[in-house]
Formats: sequence, structure tokens, C-alpha cells
Amino acid sequence: MKKILEELNRTDRIAVTGHERPDGDCVGSVMALYLYLKKMLPEAVVDAYLEKPSLVFDCIDGIEELKTDCPEDICYDVCIVIDTSADRIGAAKKYFDTARKTINIDHHITNADGCGTVNYIKPDASSASELVYELLEEKDLDASIAKAIYIGIAHDTGVFQYSNTTPHTMEVAAKLIGYGFDFPRIIDQTFYEKTYWQTQILGRALLESIRFMDGRCVVSMVDRKTMAFYQVTPQDLDGIVSQLRSIKGVECAIFLYELEQQTYKVSMRSNGKVDVAKVAAYFGGGGHVRAAGCTMRGTYYDCINNLSLHIARQLKEAKA
Ligand code: 5GP
Ligand code: MN
Repeated sequence: MKKILEELNRTDRIAVTGHERPDGDCVGSVMALYLYLKKMLPEAVVDAYLEKPSLVFDCIDGIEELKTDCPEDICYDVCIVIDTSADRIGAAKKYFDTARKTINIDHHITNADGCGTVNYIKPDASSASELVYELLEEKDLDASIAKAIYIGIAHDTGVFQYSNTTPHTMEVAAKLIGYGFDFPRIIDQTFYEKTYWQTQILGRALLESIRFMDGRCVVSMVDRKTMAFYQVTPQDLDGIVSQLRSIKGVECAIFLYELEQQTYKVSMRSNGKVDVAKVAAYFGGGGHVRAAGCTMRGTYYDCINNLSLHIARQLKEAKA
């Protein structure tokens, strides 16, 4: 794919969007591209659509301009989908379906073919934000754009710690902090800081976690009643699964929360032996080798049994 401005040559109406329940990488990449396009194409109409992100991302400039619902039927010249395939963009799908040209920028291995007429898919990239960086002209960046990209990369790499962090990721991050924003503070604010209730429910989920397969798997679940008791939303549960993954001896961590009766959102993390993207894809979800998710129906025990079957098979193969 060419640089984004070449791809958008003389375009009037551009929509930028990402996945439902947007995480740091999704918010960062969508906002970075939105800020860049508004700056570089002042004559064009540029709209960014996302479900309302967590309040921690209020530190990203222009976030108040995000459109959190899609009431109007607008026919865009170009619709850019970032950090996902078009099947997870929610209400903004109608803009994707009617746009003259579609561009897909993603790093999920389960979206290897891309859903756009033009695709920039690199499963080896740390984050969608790193890919957005590659499509911009460096000379046109500023502190606001750099900050949004940096937040995205930091979130999807667990602050430059996960195995998706490459020398290139660090080089990009080094260039970004050169724009001069308070990078230690925004990482604290958006990644590490938790409210009292978020910490309480994390503690509860850890306390109730159960190890199985000789301690190589761990699972925990939060139901709607418990979420209501602690007054938390799904966004408040971020980070629980990675905490479970850090348990010594664990190869695969599973965290579920109840969406509605007999429906669970599943998050999985692996330490390398299990390809959780494969497990998630089997149940209609997707993600990365070491971090993936899906939505499952059935009782909690049905879900665990079905997931375990696939995880056990992979662990057995890894041993053989
Ligand atoms: P998380 O567990 O943090 O929600 O997601 C981990 C990774 O898997 C993220 O990259 C996320 O985009 C992806 N993922 C989570 N749930 C789904 C899903 O239902 N479908 C697909 N395609 N990807 C998912
Ligand atoms: Mn991502």
C-alpha cells in the first residue's frame, strides 16, 4: 500500500473507524489517523466513528470529536477500517458497505486477507498504531498525533513488553517521544492506573480463579450480578486476563465475563505454546497467537469444556 495521502488522492469524504469495545490500540490508531487527515486535508470531511472509549483516553487530543453513534446515512468516498476486519465495526458497517473505496489497516493474523479494496495487513506488527505510523509522512506529524500513536503501541505491547515488540517498534516509539509529550504520565493514566472498583473486581477474579491441566491453564469468570455489585462495566475488566497469564507455570489464561444469560465474552492469553488465535477462530472470534477472544454461548462449564478441548490438544501437540 502507498502512503495514506496518496491512497486518498482528492477524496472529499472520509470515514475512519475501528472495532467494537475499542482498546488502547484501536482508539490510538483511529485518533492518530483522524488527526492527521484533518490536518493534511483541511477541505475534506473527515469523520471518526467508535463506540465510546474508556474515559482514560480523554488525554488524546480531539477525542471529544469522535462520533459514538451513526444516525446519518452518509455515503463516504473512502471508509478506513483499523485494527479489525469489517465484521466487528458495529453500526459503522453501513458506511463501509456504501463507501466507494475501502481501506483496511490491521495486524490481526485472523484477518490476514483484509476486508478492504486496499489492504495494509501485517500480522507481525506490534499494533495497528505502528502500521498507521508507517502510512503517514513523518515530517507532518506533531505532538498530538505522536501521542495517540504512542498510546496505541504501548497498550498493545503491554508497555513494550510482549513478544510482539520488535526493534522497529522501539525505533518508532523513540521517534514519537521526540515530539515532546509527557509519556510516563500518559502510560500511568491510561494503562496502569485503576479505580478502586476496578482493583476490587480484579482481586475478586484472581481470588476465584481455578487452575486445571496440572496448573498449565487458569480460568476465571465474572457474572453480571458481580459486575453490578462492584458497579463496573466490561471496560473495567481490562487487565484481569493478563494478570492471570503471569501466574507461574501457566501456559494459557482464560477470562470470561457474562454478556447476557448463557452468553460470555472470552479473553485468552498464552505464553507461547498455545496459539489462542486458532482457538478463538474456531469459536468465531480471532486475535493474535498470544492474545485472542471470542463470544460463546452456553453455560460457563460448557464454554470452559469446549475451550479446554482445543487448548489441551495444542498442549499435547507442543509436547510431542
Ligand atoms: P481481548 O482479550 O483483549 O478482548 O482481545 C485480545 C485480542 O483478540 C485483541 O486483539 C482483539 O482485537 C481480539 N479479539 C477479541 N475478541 C474478538 C472477537 O470476538 N473477534 C475477533 N475477530 N477478535 C477478537
Ligand atoms: Mn491492536
